[in-house]
Formats: sequence, structure tokens, C-alpha cells
Amino acid sequence: MNCKYCNGKCKKDGFQRNGCQRYKCKECKKKQQKAYKYHAYNPQINSTIITYTKEGIGIRSAARLLKISTTTLLNRIVSIAKNIKQPIIISKQVYEVDEIKSFVKCKKNLIWIVYALNRKTKEVVSYNVGNRTNATLEVVTKTLDLSNATKIYTDKWRGYKSLINGKIHSTFNRGTNHIERHNLTLRTHLKRLTRRSICFSRSAVILSAVLKIYFWG
Ligand SMILES: [Zn+2]
Repeated sequence: MNCKYCNGKCKKDGFQRNGCQRYKCKECKKKQQKAYKYHAYNPQINSTIITYTKEGIGIRSAARLLKISTTTLLNRIVSIAKNIKQPIIISKQVYEVDEIKSFVKCKKNLIWIVYALNRKTKEVVSYNVGNRTNATLEVVTKTLDLSNATKIYTDKWRGYKSLINGKIHSTFNRGTNHIERHNLTLRTHLKRLTRRSICFSRSAVILSAVLKIYFWG
């Protein structure tokens, strides 16, 4: 048998507690089984989860396709997201910042996704999920502040005015065209996920994790 991690040669290494033959890789020394009873242990599963999440496949369909439980999948999504790092931001760029309204748990429970888009590279450089407060906004504006942004376009919401330096801030009507188009893409791609996640009590956490995988995974 070849190693699932490094493709090296494996030798028999006793038995698992459940009676399955256990193997040990001669090169990387990782212990493994030929086939796993529980699909969640399969080494390739995390990259498949990332692909599915980026394609906007809902939690339930993904769990069915992967033959794992929804609970396992949700836990896995959170742990994958935890290991993704925010990309390094180039300094002196032009950004557009906007908010998307969504729901958590029920329709009464509003939640906001604030994010910043680099106008030139169309890359999302920072995002945050939370209430429609300055504290939620500040996480995003602070990142831009640190990167010495040369211009920031937003809508006319008051919160921005107090957080962004007036010299580089613009609320010009068509200034947020790019990010508004991006909002549509986001809603189309992640629609099912957002809809699914309203059934879960931890959905703000899941929503944030899914966005992180979608933007940077
Ligand atoms: Zn190996």
C-alpha cells in the first residue's frame, strides 16, 4: 500500500481498535488505514470542502455528497477557516467599502457583512460580520488605515464619516459601482449557503467562516 500523505511505501503496523488493519508509512511515519469507515478522516476531504464552499453548494448537499454529517461538515468549515490567513495588503491603493444585509436564525435577526474591495485588483482585503454599528465597520476601516489607502469610496452612511479620514473619503454617487456589482456576485454565489445558515444558531460564526473560505481559501 502507498502512503496517502507522501505516496511512500507503507508496512503493516498492527490493528486499529475497531479491528481494521493499520499501516505505517516508512517515510513520513504517519499511521493510516487502507479505507476509512468514516469519510471525514479522508485526507483529501478538506480541499473538497473548500471547492464546494467556493461553488456555493449548501451545507446539506455538501454533507450528502461527501457522505459526512452536517455537524462534522460545519465543524470542519470553521476549522478550515481558522487556518486561512488574511492576505498581505499592498499599500497605497484605492478601495471601495460596502455592507450587505443578511439574516441569522430568523428574519428579525439582521446581520451585516462589511467588506473592502481593492478597486484595481478586485481583491477583497478585509471583511467583518456583525451588527450595523461602528464597531463592526471599524475592523475593516482600520485595515485600510494601516495600508495607507489613497482613496476610499463608500455610501453615505454616517458611520463611515467618523471612521475614515475626510481627506481620502468619498461618497460620490457612482464611487461604489464595482463593489455593488461584487455584492451581486456574492449573493448569487453564496445565496444557498446564506439561506441554509439561517437555520443554525451558530450561523454568524459559520457565515464568517464561509466568507473567509470564499474570499481567501
Ligand atoms: Zn508517508
